[in-house]
Amino acid sequence: MQLTNILKNTTSLVTNTLGKTGEQTNQTRTTSRPRVVVIGSGFGGLNVVRGLAKSEVEVVLLDRNNYHGFWPLLYQVATAELVPDSIAFPVREFVKSYHNTIFHMAVVTDIDLANKRVSIREGQPISYDYLVLAAGSTNNYFGNKVIAQNTFSLKDVEQAVEIRQGILKAFEKAALEPDAEKRQTLLTFLVVGSGPTGVELSGALAELIPPLLQKFYSGLAGEKARIILVEAHTTLLESFPGPLQQKAQQHLEKMGVEILKNHEVTGVENGEVTFKQGPKIQAGTVVWAAGVRASTLAEKLGVKLAHGERVPVESTLNLKEHPEVYVIGDMSYLEGFKGGKKPYPGVAQVAIQMGQQAAKNILAQIEGKTQEDFHYIDKGQLSTIGRRDAVAEVFNLQLSGFVAWLVWGAVHIFYLLGARNRLLVMLGWAYNYATFNLGIRIVGGWPHQKAAK
Ligand SMILES: Cc1cc2nc3c(=O)[nH]c(=O)nc-3n(C[C@H](O)[C@H](O)[C@H](O)COP(=O)(O)OP(=O)(O)OC[C@H]3O[C@@H](n4cnc5c(N)ncnc54)[C@H](O)[C@@H]3O)c2cc1C
Repeated sequence: MQLTNILKNTTSLVTNTLGKTGEQTNQTRTTSRPRVVVIGSGFGGLNVVRGLAKSEVEVVLLDRNNYHGFWPLLYQVATAELVPDSIAFPVREFVKSYHNTIFHMAVVTDIDLANKRVSIREGQPISYDYLVLAAGSTNNYFGNKVIAQNTFSLKDVEQAVEIRQGILKAFEKAALEPDAEKRQTLLTFLVVGSGPTGVELSGALAELIPPLLQKFYSGLAGEKARIILVEAHTTLLESFPGPLQQKAQQHLEKMGVEILKNHEVTGVENGEVTFKQGPKIQAGTVVWAAGVRASTLAEKLGVKLAHGERVPVESTLNLKEHPEVYVIGDMSYLEGFKGGKKPYPGVAQVAIQMGQQAAKNILAQIEGKTQEDFHYIDKGQLSTIGRRDAVAEVFNLQLSGFVAWLVWGAVHIFYLLGARNRLLVMLGWAYNYATFNLGIRIVGGWPHQKAAK
């Protein structure tokens, strides 16, 4: 069964039962303990739950998925290196050790600040005393709906599986395509945006695609697949130091990735990518990794949003006018990164540390104590380039090559949730990296034709 169907079935199961549990959540407030509603079981949300464990509060955790997604490894699901559930951890498994916490799989649709309650698509509104918004980010298409419709996105497990299927189906279509130009379009894979996601994805594609073509598609012998990384600005990995940016570019080019800098995509339609500068490119598979903006829930707060539609927060991570409402992680806008005017970036460490601070500040508020400002401990940044190379800036140390890759691997295993997932990922890496085996290549069939009655 496809992941979409599994998720749909799970959703309907929850929809059917949530009426009851939803009522319990709203009306039967069995305790007089303050209730903290946390929206999002990502890096930020789970750390709020952890920080509130053992305290005298009731925590209601909500997420549209029933899993916590480890997004930094999502590109490896998209490129057939890891199985989807090795990077997804069931939230109910996580909350079972937190006796003051309940979880509902539900999509939050609205926030009523005046009456202190959130609306969910699957049931009755849920009231809160304290609210934490940790709903992360979504793609920013800068208002271009056509690009949104015609590109793949890499924001959750379902989308990673869609990319994997899209790549594999492109090969199957190319193998049956008599027209050489159309075949080349099908065999052209273009990634827009050269932040860590774009760089990691294009490096992984460069390792997946040429061997796939050679080993399994004898009918396509002599054809050349193209992997193109497009960037609107002048550098790759903009937040990294210059020497690491150059190393990343050199590595990618050595692997066969074509890099187009200073190219702003203006449209993607019918297998054709257009740019503000330069000629069009025919590409059958286009992945958008070019911009992020805060979850659209930010718009429900009625406050003036900052850059990237993020919610400006006080240094204590809550809203000025509603101190009982906290906004953390990718959704929040707070200046002070590296002691300057820059906002804290949308990375996992910021979300984790904000989650920890928000939990402390909620408890301080309840106990009538002074809340603390957010202080970030910058542990650095990492990006892989293929299976054996990476660039890393760790505690002001610049690393590249295999050593950087080892640091990257250790950090990711450390932060991955669940012993089973860690084992699955390590086994997957060991097997794939040693053999260069091409991983998970099951696509599922083309849609069935329904029999006429
Ligand atoms: C492909 C990819 C690769 C990345 N690589 C790295 C990396 O290598 N290193 C790094 O530091 N950072 C990386 N990041 C960024 C990092 O994952 C984020 O900064 C981090 O996840 C932010 O944490 P968060 O808690 O704010 O949001 P998230 O972790 O995204 O969690 C948000 C949660 O909210 C839920 N949600 C959203 N809307 C609703 C709604 N309406 N109702 C209910 N639930 C909702 C989502 O399902 C999700 O579970 C990557 C991100 C992506 C997408």
